Parts: sequence; C-alpha cells; structure tokens
Amino acid sequence: MPHSLLLRDVRPMAGARADILIRDGRIEAIGTGLSAAGVDAVDGAGAIAIPGLVEAHTHLDKTLLGMPWYRNEVGPRLIDKIDNERAAKKTLGIDPHRQSMRQAVLSVSKGSTHIRSHVDVDTESGVGSIEGVMATRDALRGVIDIELVAFPQSGMLIRPGTVELMDRALALGAEVVGGIDPAGMDRDPKGHVDTVFELAERHGKPVDIHVHELGELGGFSMELIIERTRALGMQGKVTVSHAFCLGMDDKAYVARLVEQLAEAGVHIMTTGSASRPVPVVKQLRDAGVVVCAGTDGMRDTWGPYGNADMLERAMLVGLRNNLRRDDEVEIALDVCTHGGAKVMALEGYGLEVGCHGDLVLVGGETLTDAVVTRAPRHLVVKGGRVVARDGVALVEAP
Ligand SMILES: [Zn+2]
Repeated sequence: MPHSLLLRDVRPMAGARADILIRDGRIEAIGTGLSAAGVDAVDGAGAIAIPGLVEAHTHLDKTLLGMPWYRNEVGPRLIDKIDNERAAKKTLGIDPHRQSMRQAVLSVSKGSTHIRSHVDVDTESGVGSIEGVMATRDALRGVIDIELVAFPQSGMLIRPGTVELMDRALALGAEVVGGIDPAGMDRDPKGHVDTVFELAERHGKPVDIHVHELGELGGFSMELIIERTRALGMQGKVTVSHAFCLGMDDKAYVARLVEQLAEAGVHIMTTGSASRPVPVVKQLRDAGVVVCAGTDGMRDTWGPYGNADMLERAMLVGLRNNLRRDDEVEIALDVCTHGGAKVMALEGYGLEVGCHGDLVLVGGETLTDAVVTRAPRHLVVKGGRVVARDGVALVEAP
C-alpha cells in the first residue's frame, strides 16, 4: 500500500530547513510551509535528511547474528575459510532465511533502504540459500529492497554441477550473476569469466564478480572481465567487487586499468578494507568509474567484524582513502548512497521531487559531522512509511 508522510523542518543534505512531502510513496514536494490534509506529519526538529543508505555488497545468508558467539580458529587460506564455512552451515545450523532476516532488519535500523546480497550457490546446499534469502526479500517488501546475486562461493568449474545450480538460481529470480577469483578459485580464468558472462547473456542479467586476486593476477582477471563487458555491450551492467589489485604498487598499470574500466563502464565495489590493498576511490571517480560500498561478510565464520552501518562504512572508506576535507568526506557518503544506487540501477533514487520516498533523518551539524560521528538515525522512511525510529526497526526479526 502506498504511504504518505509530511516531514516538517528537516535539512535536505544538511542544507536549508525545509519540509518534505511524500505522497503515495514518492516525494511530491520539498519546500517551506508545506501542508497536506489527512497526511501524517513528523517534526524533524532540524535533522539532516539524506537518501536511504545503500548496502551494495553483503552476504545476508550466512551472518551469525543472534547466534551464540562463534570462536574463530579458522586456517589462514581463502580455501580454509570457504571449506570451514560450508561445514559450519550444517554443524551450527545457519538458516539462510532466519539469518538474512536478522541482518536485513539490522540494516533497516541503520538507515539502509536497499541491499545487494551475494548468496551462496554450491553443490552441498544447492539453491537453498537463494530460496531462504528470497523468502526474506518477500517478507520485507516495502521495508527494504533486497537484490540477490547468485554467488558460487566454493568455485564453479572445480565443482561440477555448480553451473547448473547457478542457472537454476537465476531462473528462480536471483537478479545478478556472481563470480569469484577466476584464476585463484577455479584456476581457469577464461573458463570462469566466459561462464559468468554466458549465464548473464542467457538470463539478461547484470554481473558482479568478487576479485580478491592481488597484483597482476587480479589485473589479468579484470582485463578478461573488461573485454567481455565490451564484447557483449554490457557497459554499466558489470561490477567488480573488492578489486584489491587496483591498490597495487605499479601505478602506471593501475592507471591503464582504471582508464579501461571507465571506458567499459565497469563499476567497482570497495569495503575500504583496513587490511588489504584497496582501489583509490577518488582516482576511480575522477576517471568516471562508479564506486559503491558494502559491509561484505558481517559477524560470520570469516570474521567477527561488521554492524551493517553504511554511515560507518562511509567513515571507513574515508579513513582508508585519506579523505579529510569536507568535500572529500561527502564523496565517501555519496559512495554509500548514490554510488550504490547507480550500481544497482535503482529507478527514482534520490532526494528530489519525483523520487521514491526513501530517506533517513540523521543527527549532526553537517554531512561530514554525520559521517565521522556515525550520527544517530532518528527516522528511516521507505516509500513514505516509517520503518525505523531512533535506531530501532519497526519490523521484527526472528
Ligand atoms: Zn563478498
């Protein structure tokens, strides 16, 4: 049901005080002294209004949120973490629907209005995780929008049967084709990337590939992805997540890669990782590459960190990228709002008349103040409906 709401005395993007009228789910007017008969009104008391935060990369199906503390004693290699997790799903009973509900509701309380979640597809759990997160997507419709990436976490070509399961996940309704470390995981970079793009072409869906590979190996995977994006005319529909290789020391090589990414319209997702080389956000944006951000794994068998707070993520991206000036910190916030919206190709996103009534009222004096203090979320509004108040979601998680 479409909702209407009048927000009085707020400061859109920390600017001048104004009222925002949302009618039937869309922003109808922004101005002073607005009134609307029969529409619920909320006094914003001068709070900053920003568009809904966008969590553009996480793994809703496998957080341990709300479960007993998991003592992490997992081996150091990537494959140790992947194998451990597949086993833990059974021994710990990580239910993808229950767990994704818990994390998504936490995201709502933190002011996210959209989530892109990679969801495991493998030969042990099949498409069970996809079905679990799809049930969450349906249960939270109108509260938060969730997009699923069919994600071959355990590899695709090295585990026969996975490609067929990916195909099934996409037919079931996963919106995006995922992939992972074409060389490092499948040890067949061309085969992996070709398969991902074949699936994308067959289902008419965008691509979002995890590339953790470092240095020139990662650069090689990126080049394969760029080539296929161009060849299939998929400009604007392909994202590389992490792209740690863009943080390598060979700056001339990185500059060439960035130029190619911009030309091919390939987006980059960063978490602003404190422990890995990272793509340089300003360099990418200056070149015309769309950058988004995400929490990635949160409180899972990979690590204990994360709280689904995309305002805090903006701060972490800012810290990692040495963003100090106010206009620079505002870039980090833009990555966590409009950047994610562009990557997810969200229609009607933003704080303008005609856009969906998806917004957050946050404390703080300026946008930078709100980011660095991770200011309280006073009100979260989705399509004109209040979905969280004072940091508490108005929907319950199991
Ligand atoms: Zn990830």
